[in-house]
Amino acid sequence: MLDSKPRVVIVGGGFGGLGAAKALRKSNVEIILIDRQNHHLFQPLLYQVATSVLSPGQIASPIRGILRRQRNTAVILGEVTGVDTDRRRVFVDSVDREGVAIEYDHLILATGATHSYFGHDEFARFAPGLKSLADAVSIRNRVLLAFEQAEAEEDPQRHRDLLTFVLVGAGPTGVEMAGALAILVRTALRSEFRRIDPTLARVILIDMASRVLGTFSEKLSAAARRQLEKLGVEVRLGHGVDRIDADGVSVAGEHIASKTVIWTAGVTPSPAGKWLGGATDRAGRVRVQPDLTVPGHPEIFVVGDTASLDQGGHPLPGVAQVAMQQGRYAGRLIHRRIGGRSAPPPFRYFDKGNMAVVGKGFAVLQSGRLALSGLLAWMAWAAVHLEFLAQSSLRVSVFVQWVWTYLTGQGGARLIVNYHGSVVDDVRTPSSSAQQPMPVRMGETEHRQRAS
Ligand SMILES: Cc1cc2nc3c(=O)[nH]c(=O)nc-3n(C[C@H](O)[C@H](O)[C@H](O)COP(=O)(O)OP(=O)(O)OC[C@H]3O[C@@H](n4cnc5c(N)ncnc54)[C@H](O)[C@@H]3O)c2cc1C
Repeated sequence: MLDSKPRVVIVGGGFGGLGAAKALRKSNVEIILIDRQNHHLFQPLLYQVATSVLSPGQIASPIRGILRRQRNTAVILGEVTGVDTDRRRVFVDSVDREGVAIEYDHLILATGATHSYFGHDEFARFAPGLKSLADAVSIRNRVLLAFEQAEAEEDPQRHRDLLTFVLVGAGPTGVEMAGALAILVRTALRSEFRRIDPTLARVILIDMASRVLGTFSEKLSAAARRQLEKLGVEVRLGHGVDRIDADGVSVAGEHIASKTVIWTAGVTPSPAGKWLGGATDRAGRVRVQPDLTVPGHPEIFVVGDTASLDQGGHPLPGVAQVAMQQGRYAGRLIHRRIGGRSAPPPFRYFDKGNMAVVGKGFAVLQSGRLALSGLLAWMAWAAVHLEFLAQSSLRVSVFVQWVWTYLTGQGGARLIVNYHGSVVDDVRTPSSSAQQPMPVRMGETEHRQRAS
């Protein structure tokens, strides 16, 4: 009987949450996966949406579509706002109700991270970050609008400001964005404007660190910098930004006039640490034990960007591979526990290496002692990214688009789309049923009461 099965609630349908759900596909459990988005997003390719290479639908898939064959799993669109660890339930704001309680026997929190302005939240207004599809489309709008405005503008001084693009943060996202922007202005846009020359656009990459791609070896980071400069990107290192406003950025006493500043610096974890009230690291990530559970709560797992676990004396990085491997581990552990089998050995991250792409046909790759830059690394990068897209249809579509773009220089989606209003806001009725049970499956409208 369905109701007698243990219930696993997974919060987040990103890399960690999906990894956990799939690891439990053959388990005799009832899984409820809750995400505030209806889609799984392949964040490593977000910068290609922001720079008009790919369209949003090519890097995201509906979560319920990905899990359609997994009969033990229900997907709920809703935002988790808290966890009652004593009564074992999470609270969810769904499309039309708030504070709905969903009970669990096992809980996996895989709620990821968002961008951090390092205490300067006032920057957010002028320098959007890149984390969601909406962010990517909004940055794409800004970039394309800047060219449109410049084409219509008589004042050459304004041309310069409009066509100066500043990226703050020279980690993988900043480097990849800068390279792709440089390519965009020098290829696709080049022949389409009459009153301005898009190739005169400036792309400036700023970081307070002394080199780009600080987590890569010095050799690879120097290779990436050379490649960026070859593409015309101005790389400014050694100073953080002091100020960002509507007119541009101030860095090391200099004001750089720009109408498009993009934040590609730090991230901060989801509030899962606050929900649990337990130990967190300095960044706010939940400190987990080697089996990824929260101390004192063997039924609660935290995985991915929102978890903090040291391996070899260093915290594991916030990358997709860590999240996927941790999600799978948590799923398998629960599967074994339910089957009455012994616990697996502690979680161990298998590092397959790091990659970052810099423009067309060039990437850097570091895996153990292997350090590679250039076309071969780019081919490895392309193969790995295609492999990890959530569905075969996306793999085919992205592959075809890349080949087309590579051969013709023409990107995928250079549309300026302004989305007004929100369906959720239209249908939500805030007064409805706080802390009420929600139907968790078609036909199951009665909330299950659980012995605590
Ligand atoms: C622009 C960018 C580029 C990147 N490039 C790379 C790369 O090249 N290689 C690499 O390995 N990693 C890369 N990363 C990092 C990688 O994407 C993350 O490490 C990975 O996504 C973490 O997986 P996760 O499952 O912890 O979180 P996510 O994949 O972020 O998933 C979290 C999910 O939880 C949902 N969620 C959050 N809060 C709630 C809530 N309260 N209620 C309900 N649902 C919620 C979100 O909607 C989301 O679906 C990149 C990240 C970004 C932003």
